[in-house]
This record gives sequence, structure tokens and C-alpha cells, in this order.
Amino acid sequence: MALILLGINLVMYSMSSGYRQHNFFLSLENSSTIVASAVLQKEKADDYYAVKNSIFQHLVDEEEYILRIGQDKNNIDFPASLPLHESFYLEAINHGRARYYNNGVHYVGLFKKHVAGEDDILVISSARDVEGDAYRKRLKTTLALAFLAAVVVMTITTIFFSKRLFGPMVKIMKKVNSINAFNLNDRLEKEHSLDEISELQDTLNEMLQRIETAFQSQQDYVSNISHSLRTPLTIIAGEAEIALSQLQQGHKAAYSLQMIMQETEKLKHIINILLELARSEQNMQANGWSVLRMDELLESVKEVIYKMDSSYKLKLDYSNFPENDAMLYINCNVHLLTLAICNIILNGFKYSDNQDVKLKLIAAGNEIKLLVTDSGIGIDPSEQDKIFDPYYRGSNTSNYEGFGVGLPLAMKIIKMHKGAILVNSIVGQGTTMEVVLPSLYAEQLV
Ligand code: ADP
Repeated sequence: MALILLGINLVMYSMSSGYRQHNFFLSLENSSTIVASAVLQKEKADDYYAVKNSIFQHLVDEEEYILRIGQDKNNIDFPASLPLHESFYLEAINHGRARYYNNGVHYVGLFKKHVAGEDDILVISSARDVEGDAYRKRLKTTLALAFLAAVVVMTITTIFFSKRLFGPMVKIMKKVNSINAFNLNDRLEKEHSLDEISELQDTLNEMLQRIETAFQSQQDYVSNISHSLRTPLTIIAGEAEIALSQLQQGHKAAYSLQMIMQETEKLKHIINILLELARSEQNMQANGWSVLRMDELLESVKEVIYKMDSSYKLKLDYSNFPENDAMLYINCNVHLLTLAICNIILNGFKYSDNQDVKLKLIAAGNEIKLLVTDSGIGIDPSEQDKIFDPYYRGSNTSNYEGFGVGLPLAMKIIKMHKGAILVNSIVGQGTTMEVVLPSLYAEQLV
């Protein structure tokens, strides 16, 4: 738009300026015609000059040169004082008139044949168009200001309308991008915007409703199955334990029973994950909250891990154990927090092919930090923020079993505890997952 406007302004300026110059040349030519008549009719010269002076007072710095042209037109002595090229004189002689503009001065050449056999005359008039120059200057300033004002108004209105149009679109895109399997109940907020945009919001909300309903029935199905599987599994584990306790030491069947117990523990863990995934956030938060010491929770985590596989070596590092025990207390849902921390630790074992995993406890004022470090395959930097998306699995995990739900669930649980999980990993060297949780000590300080 600015370019089009600039083009229009330039055309307007050049047309107006050209028209003005044409008019000035005409005035100068008319003045020259009167001078020529005065020269040719000497007896009326005074009258002619009187008329000329009364009509053409506006010609500033006007000067007239009269050249007498003899029969030999090829041998003319052109005055050197004028900045005129020979072609100007020749054009005037051959075509009757010529025009030239140089450095603010207009030149007109007018050729008149003398009737009574005397020399022909060439009248050259020059003058400055002072008014025209001022007019051009004014026109230039006005057009430039109008152009700038138009550009400013256009820019402001464009920004205003594009914000009105695209602002809600950007919001919709952000919101839709943030919706995943865990927050399918989120909806786009209705805004007072353009009709089409609120229709789009309605359409997307209806689609989300349909997806949520379909997803919910699937979740109910998973939840029902998980519930039904939990009881037989608990019975299997319990029976295996009783059987093991009745065997004599070194009995051949002992190993098999131990394996049955370990695998049922792993299965129970997977079923727990599925169950929690299927639960809505409200159901997850409903009960099971208590205040407890983090080191005690870690000991029970260690036990759960050991039950799943006695070869897992989880090394608890309490080198940063706080002097003040009060810093260790947190308000948590024991079942869920254990599940989340176990998921992170089990990943450490899985992705390092059962090498040792270190769990370091740091209590620093308001926060409790758990650093889970393994020396496994690591996570590519480009994937580190995606691994918390449901069902996402790293590109280097094809040799490892998994479903991509453990970390998203852990993140959901930690967030429910107002905490965060940070990743620090180098491919081929290992990973440290940092779980940060607020301690109750901070609340007491407040
Ligand atoms: P799963 O382990 O079943 O694939 P998770 O949700 O537990 O699913 O983990 C998601 C992804 O995060 C994994 O597929 C893996 O790429 C990556 N990941 C998580 N923990 C580790 C770890 N300790 N070492 C390497 N990669 C990991």
C-alpha cells in the first residue's frame, strides 16, 4: 500500500510540476511574441511594451535577446553569454520555437520572419519561475507529509486489525497445542471476537468433547481391566511368598518362585501406572495425602524396586543430608509419589541395562531435590522436552520395551505436588533426572 501511495504521489507531483512548467513556458512565449512584434513594428513598440508590462509582471529576472538572422542561416553568430546549445537555436529557427530549462531559468526561443525583406529575428527570452518553484516546494512538502501520515495511519490500523483477527487465532493455536491425553477436559475460552472465530472455537470445543468422550470410554475400559487384574496378581504374589517361605533353603524351585514374585511386582507396577493414567486428575487428588519424611519415602521406594528385581542396585546418597530434619517433611500422596519416583528410577535401570543407579537427596531450605543418575544411553537434546508428552519414546529406545507413559505420569504427579522434573542428559554417557519438590519447612517459614 505504501509503495502504491508513493507511486501515486510521484505521478501527481511530476504531472503538476510539468503542467506548471508548461504554463510558464507559454507565458514566456507570449511575452516573446509581444517583444518580437515590438521589434518588427517599431512604430507600435511602446504600445506593445506597455501591454507586455501590464500582463507579464510576474516574470522574474526576465531578459530578452534579439538576434538578427540573415539569409545565410548556416553562418550565424550565436551569443556565447547564454548557456544554450546550438541545437536550441537551430530548433527555434527550423520549427519556429524552442524551449530549454537550466538551473532554475526557463529559456524560450521564438523565430519571426520579417516580411519586408529585412533580416528575420530570433527572440530569446529567459526568466525565473519563482512562484512555480515555491509552489513545487509546497507541493513536495504537502505530499511527503500526506504520505507519511497515510503510512502511519495504515500501519496502526493494520496492526490493530491484524491483532483483532490473529490474536484470538494465536490464542486458539496455543491452547489447542497444549491439550493432550491428560487434559482433554480443557476447553477453549469463549471471547467476544469475530463471529467466524467464535464459530471456530465452538467447532473445536465440540470436537474436543467428542474426543474426550471416546477417550474416556477407553480409559474406563482400561481401568476396569486393571482393577480385575490387580486382585489375581496380589494373590499370585502372596501365594508365591508363602510357598517360598515353606521351601527348604537351596531348594531348586526357590528361584522360580522368586522370579514369579518379581515379575508379578513389575506387572502390578505397570497396572498401577495404567490405573492412574485412566483416572481423572480430581480422582487422583482425592485421597491418600499425608505428611511424611522424604528419606522414609525413599527407603520404601528402595524396597519396592528391590522387590521388582533383586539385582537392581539403587545407591542412596545422603551426603547432603540436612542438619535440620524439619527440611525433609513434605505433604504428599504416598502411593502416587512412590509410583512417580519408581518410574524415574526404573527408567535409569532399563536404559543402562541394569547398571547401578544413584539417588541423591538434597534438602535446601524451601526445596527437596532428588537426583536420579544413571550411566545409560542418554537422551538426545532435541528430545528432552518431548519425553514428557504421552506415548512419546526416544529415537534410541528401539531395543528397550516401553509405552511412553511412565514419565508423563511422573510429571503429572510431581506437578500435582507443585514440583518439577528437570532433565540433564548426554547421549551415550547417562542421564540425571532432577525431581524438585517444595518442602513443608518453607511453608512453616512463611
Ligand atoms: P518408556 O520408558 O516406557 O519409553 P517413559 O515415559 O518412561 O516411557 O519415558 C519416555 C522416554 O524418555 C523414553 O522412551 C526414553 O526415550 C526417555 N527416557 C526416560 N528416562 C530415560 C533414561 N534414564 N535414560 C534414557 N532415556 C530415558
